[in-house]
Amino acid sequence: MSIYQTILIVAAVLILSAAILMAVMRKKHPPKVCAQCGKGSSYGYSKVAETGDGDIIPLCVDCLLQRLDADYLTYDGRAVVVQPVAELPCYLFRPKADWGEAVRSDLEFVLAGLEERCHSCGEEARYAWLNALEPAPVAKLPKVGIRQTLLTAGTRPVALCARCTVRRIGHSLSVQEGGYLEVCGPQGSEDGVVCGIGY
Ligand SMILES: [Zn+2]
Ligand SMILES: [Zn+2]
Repeated sequence: MSIYQTILIVAAVLILSAAILMAVMRKKHPPKVCAQCGKGSSYGYSKVAETGDGDIIPLCVDCLLQRLDADYLTYDGRAVVVQPVAELPCYLFRPKADWGEAVRSDLEFVLAGLEERCHSCGEEARYAWLNALEPAPVAKLPKVGIRQTLLTAGTRPVALCARCTVRRIGHSLSVQEGGYLEVCGPQGSEDGVVCGIGY
């Protein structure tokens, strides 16, 4: 047998073992599949936050953004929307009554100053977008409020319509690795806050 034949056989054996190994691993961890289109899914979507695992639907990013588009368009209140940060596994809407005193009063403060027209397209604005570049202030927000975490450096919220808000969320998600365990959009007519949540 020539040296080339030996190399070929060794290579074939290696490729075959790798293929078998991958097949076994895939069986152990079946990839999540988008419930809507069958593409790979790295997002869990639910209509209302934390209603139990069974209600979370696996979706790909495109199908997730379609659902969020519908949620943000039909929502009847006004909300502060904090940019999603990759380090926090959930990105949820919670109505005002579900937040502590600090967030409730800051929510009123921010919405009172919300401009009437969308900064990007001029439609009616119902969302106050807040940039968040790091997870630490967002993680602290539920306890200490919005003013002490994300509005400290003279940052101003950006007034946006539903479509432009979801577009910004989509842009943030598209540059992040991984995914989210649970994402839900605003529901009902009570004002609220959309924000990254850890465990
Ligand atoms: Zn999909
Ligand atoms: Zn707009």
